[in-house]
Amino acid sequence: MVGASRRPGAIGRQVVANLIESGFEGPVYPVNARTAVVLSMPTYASVLDIPGPVDLAVLCVPATEVVAVARECGEKGVGGLVVITAGFKEIGGEGADREDELLAIARQYGMRIVGPNCMGVINTEEGVRLDASFAATRTPPGAVAMVSQSGALGEAILADATTAGLGVSMFASVGNRADVTAADLLEYWEHVDSVRVILLYVESLGNPAKFVEVARRVSRHKPILAVKSGRSAAGAAAAGSHTGSVAGADVAADTLFRQCGVLRVTSFRQMFALAAALLHQPVPRGGRIAVVTNAGGPGILATDALDAYGLEIVKLAPKTRTRLQRALPPEASLHNPVDLIASADADRYRKALRAVIRDPNVDALLVLFVSPIMIDAVQVAEAIVEAAVREAADDPAAAGKPLLVCLMGRQRGREALELLRDNGVPVFRYPEDAARTMRSLVARSRMLAREAVPLPKLRVRRNDAQRVLDAAPAGWLDGPSVETVLCAYGIPLARTRRVSDPGEAVAAAHALGYPVVLKAEAPKLVHKTELRAVVTGLRNGDEVYDAAEDLCRRLRKRFKGLTLLLQERAPGHRELLLGMTRDPRYGPLFAVGLGGTQVEVMRDVAFRIAPLDGADPAEMLGSLKGAPLLGAWRGDPPADVELAAEMLLRMQQLVADAPRIQEIEINPFILAAPGERSLAVDARIHLSEDAVEPQGGRS
Ligand code: ADP
Ligand code: MG
Repeated sequence: MVGASRRPGAIGRQVVANLIESGFEGPVYPVNARTAVVLSMPTYASVLDIPGPVDLAVLCVPATEVVAVARECGEKGVGGLVVITAGFKEIGGEGADREDELLAIARQYGMRIVGPNCMGVINTEEGVRLDASFAATRTPPGAVAMVSQSGALGEAILADATTAGLGVSMFASVGNRADVTAADLLEYWEHVDSVRVILLYVESLGNPAKFVEVARRVSRHKPILAVKSGRSAAGAAAAGSHTGSVAGADVAADTLFRQCGVLRVTSFRQMFALAAALLHQPVPRGGRIAVVTNAGGPGILATDALDAYGLEIVKLAPKTRTRLQRALPPEASLHNPVDLIASADADRYRKALRAVIRDPNVDALLVLFVSPIMIDAVQVAEAIVEAAVREAADDPAAAGKPLLVCLMGRQRGREALELLRDNGVPVFRYPEDAARTMRSLVARSRMLAREAVPLPKLRVRRNDAQRVLDAAPAGWLDGPSVETVLCAYGIPLARTRRVSDPGEAVAAAHALGYPVVLKAEAPKLVHKTELRAVVTGLRNGDEVYDAAEDLCRRLRKRFKGLTLLLQERAPGHRELLLGMTRDPRYGPLFAVGLGGTQVEVMRDVAFRIAPLDGADPAEMLGSLKGAPLLGAWRGDPPADVELAAEMLLRMQQLVADAPRIQEIEINPFILAAPGERSLAVDARIHLSEDAVEPQGGRS
């Protein structure tokens, strides 16, 4: 412990105190050249004066001394450093230089570094019991491992975890992540038996590729939960395009987490609730939920919340209803949500739960209990525990079904709550919170069930596209080039002619055939509809001439390089947005949504980061709120979603082959029924100067 201090309140004192009080099994050596004794222990003037070997050095010396101390540690043969001191990359300038120097020394001597600018590390495992942090709370041992990017928050997280009844196996505040990153810790914890759930608090991912690779693997056998703050740069570069404005902040990070199986939560409260559920309850087989309640209102709140999260309030099997009928009074509701009404006592709960948990249609249970005066809450809690724990152990029909409880009302609430928690039944105060946790459990189950689907073989004419792209300057690609590139990759476009005056427009329209669509096109003209620069459904030469003349009169002065564009009318009936923006850190981010000119208003868009596998596009389409519109709907035929999915994979191929493509937006791609002509009618491609590679760095 270098920088040990005797000054009350000093970090250097708190760390020494924690090392001792946590019951660390090995020797602790305080180092401080200016003080002879710290907490009754004689100090050493330098690391080099310590008699025995040193595995870990915790540094709290002033920033200007860190590099020198690190060198001494290296000479001493120290295995690793925890650098608590701040004043490095986070302050820029000389701080950044200092961090580079520190890292160089660590590399030279083969030491690993946690930090700098961190709160330290904790390991509560039997036989280690190391608290090398300045946390003020003592965390009980347990099955959770946590990594926090923020030191200050780390302290709060630890305290809250303890309050939420979660024990901590290991904790690391990684600070500036000069060396050890979240991904490194995931790799380590993957093989630590005491760690069963991993919690992350991250502000940014420096090396997403590494994180994705590790998290994808680890999350398959240990749940990873993340609270992520901070925004991604996605979309910022995409000003003026639909994809960018709809993607907005943070979408890339969100998608990235989902894709590698990390469960993202928005608050620590949610994180701890979910961690507890994952530790003590099984992951459900599916998303079919039964709700059992003793009060109508909360039952409705719960079902609404579950429904909003895409979970199914399942219809109970006839056999279950018969059983319930026998056990319940006539006023009770036998349908899901099963309402046992206010007079329900422990016995009624027991019978109802026994029936519902065995229902083959039910994957998971949410039990609500609003504590009425005349009912003993503790006895009800016992009945619930019996259902959740014992029934499940005895009967395979009840096994593997998670049970969450929402406990409202005060009467003997505390005692009931503790009884449930002690038996591993997660308890919530509000139905919405329980529903949200349920959703995450189901999300995890779907994630575990999902298998990657290989990509189909796509035929493309790469050279045709490359020739055009190589010759094009940075910026928006001109219309004809966009068409060449998309066609080369098998993305069909409406047949298009470009002309410069109304007379030519009529000739072009004749050649295309009626009905025809007329548009004005110019480099600075982005949203054509807003300027009434799209005229659809022109039926003859006169209409084309008049419309063309009107466009020229209104727009020619305002927009340099105005071209008239004539297009065959796409016969389809559903409009999609297909987009890609290259996130500077996460790489290509694909978007698909119900498109057309209202896409910003509807905001019904699904995102995913490359690489998409063969099943991703269909999942994206299926996840849209408006997905039913893509099927057969009120007399309309179904739309060719399979083709739409293929279009995304073709776009993926294109941006993989052409790293200069910064953005693609096809809006709309007009889908027709399968087998009919589905066509892109409006497409833009933005090129950067050079190939854009995701920035390297640390995760
Ligand atoms: P912008 O997005 O710049 O306003 P678009 O070219 O996307 O202009 O056209 C706007 C809308 O007009 C489309 O969403 C679509 O409804 C309709 N439209 C445009 N071109 C065609 C076409 N060739 N066939 C059928 N409808 C079209
Ligand atoms: Mg458009």
